[in-house]
Amino acid sequence: MAEECLFCKIWAKEAPAKEVHRGDDVLAFEDIRPVAPVHILVIPKDHIPTIKDLKPEQAPLLLRMIDLANQVARDRGISRDGYRLVINQGPQAGQSVYHLHLHVLGGRAMHWPPG
Ligand code: 5GP
Ligand code: ZN
Repeated sequence: MAEECLFCKIWAKEAPAKEVHRGDDVLAFEDIRPVAPVHILVIPKDHIPTIKDLKPEQAPLLLRMIDLANQVARDRGISRDGYRLVINQGPQAGQSVYHLHLHVLGGRAMHWPPG
């Protein structure tokens, strides 16, 4: 756990969050500023700052994050119409929290290319 990391604190329940699903090493919770009718974040327990820091041996963890994202999409009823999974990396992509997270966005039509 990184002391000053918001998402480590959410994992440790030291900061509040509307949890959607808690697994052994992955957690889904509602984004505090949703940009779509469904906007859920999926994080790993481990403090991995960005997707660039993911090591090859952590690939199964990324798969568990994606599995949970797919499950959340099914549970929220957006699986058939479609949804978007987003990982922002670095300032130009808009990453604001440096603990790896997967955005699950859905419930409305998505634009392409993204803004
Ligand atoms: P990023 O911009 O790093 O890809 O995404 C960070 C996300 O975390 C943003 O969508 C932002 O709304 C969300 N966020 C920031 N602070 C909090 C918080 O305290 N609680 C929750 N649930 N989400 C947060
Ligand atoms: Zn962290």
